[in-house]
Amino acid sequence: MRSTPLHPVARLPEEWSASLAARGERSFTAKQVFQWIHRRGVLDPAAMTNLPARLREHLAAEGLGEVLTPERVHRSEDGTRKLLLRLRDGATIETVLLPSVSGPGSHAQLDADAAAALDDDEDDDAAAEAGAAPRVRVTQCISTQVGCAMGCGFCASGVAGLKRHLGAEEIAGQVLLGRAMLEEGEELRNVVYMGMGEPLHNYEATARSLRLLTHPEGINLSTRRVTVSTSGLVPEIARLGADFGGQIALAISLHAADDETRSALMPINRKHPLDELLAALRAYPLPRRRRITIEYTLVAGQNDDPAEARRLAKLLRGLPVKINLIPMNPIEASSLGPPAQERVAAFQEVLTQAGYSCFVRRRRGDDVSAACGQLVLLGAKPKVRRALG
Ligand code: SAH
Ligand code: SF4
Repeated sequence: MRSTPLHPVARLPEEWSASLAARGERSFTAKQVFQWIHRRGVLDPAAMTNLPARLREHLAAEGLGEVLTPERVHRSEDGTRKLLLRLRDGATIETVLLPSVSGPGSHAQLDADAAAALDDDEDDDAAAEAGAAPRVRVTQCISTQVGCAMGCGFCASGVAGLKRHLGAEEIAGQVLLGRAMLEEGEELRNVVYMGMGEPLHNYEATARSLRLLTHPEGINLSTRRVTVSTSGLVPEIARLGADFGGQIALAISLHAADDETRSALMPINRKHPLDELLAALRAYPLPRRRRITIEYTLVAGQNDDPAEARRLAKLLRGLPVKINLIPMNPIEASSLGPPAQERVAAFQEVLTQAGYSCFVRRRRGDDVSAACGQLVLLGAKPKVRRALG
């Protein structure tokens, strides 16, 4: 049983139907309210002009407009925008907008952008070749917790520890805000759960936010364009697969191919070691022609040995995967760092030679520390800050 009532932004249309019927409202108002919030992105009840005044007052009293307050936008040289958002209790989280131009020749950039499954982008390339103006596709990276309980030593969220879970309204609310901040010619294409926190440790709110973001009456994101990234919570991977029929794109933070190395980097591996995790991936009800993204943060002297790349190639054999190598972004709280470029290239070469699609993710927004998974935390200062507006 829920102890607190669902925030209005977290309610699905059927839940609106129930709560509004109880208030004596007509049945179609449920869809209208949901559409105002999730399709049109309006959180000010006063602007919901087709609703009766008493209902607008009720929505205001429920705190509809008070989910997230944008505090600051940091814009990087490469167009990446990091939004610092304040929550109702004063905590701050971050979300990042990563634009990338579509069109011929842009694949390297696309592959670098995010771990989202983009296997069906041929339609866009065809349009671009036919002379259509290139659109700017935006991937948004969102947070699911303030901090994280998983304790990975290379990660700022892990070092900070878990402060609290986000509600579904705060997770989906990031996308409502991000979408409202899109610029001319930009289109929100992908959402990746790769910001602060472990999405599957906050399963209920994460699953609800997935239903909100992919609802046809709302933002209507395609499930295959929404990627949940996890450090490997095995029971919840199975649950996600069952609840969404395998439709949600899955990214796994692997970071090592043997238990000793992985446990040293990621404490979760002691609870769910590699054989358990790999079994969960094999059991994930992945639709045909889709692949699981394997994220591998390369940490100098820890997991960057070519022998580890060979073990990884062996470990993943037979699984439909693509591999993203991410040279570690240094964080203040740790002396760990990225390997030299040649070492990264050698690691990639082993995997490419073994027949895997393997990309090195370009670091985006470095000048504002906005790279996914490396968000500036809890008031810590980025190295360079340029506020907008
Ligand atoms: N908790 C989830 C999702 C958030 S982290 C997970 O771990 O998958 C998103 C990604 O960023 C993960 O692959 C994580 O390992 C990576 N990451 C975290 N800190 C990083 C850093 N300092 N440098 C490079 N990648 C990092
Ligand atoms: Fe948490 Fe992911 Fe960071 Fe690990 S890498 S501490 S799971 S956010």
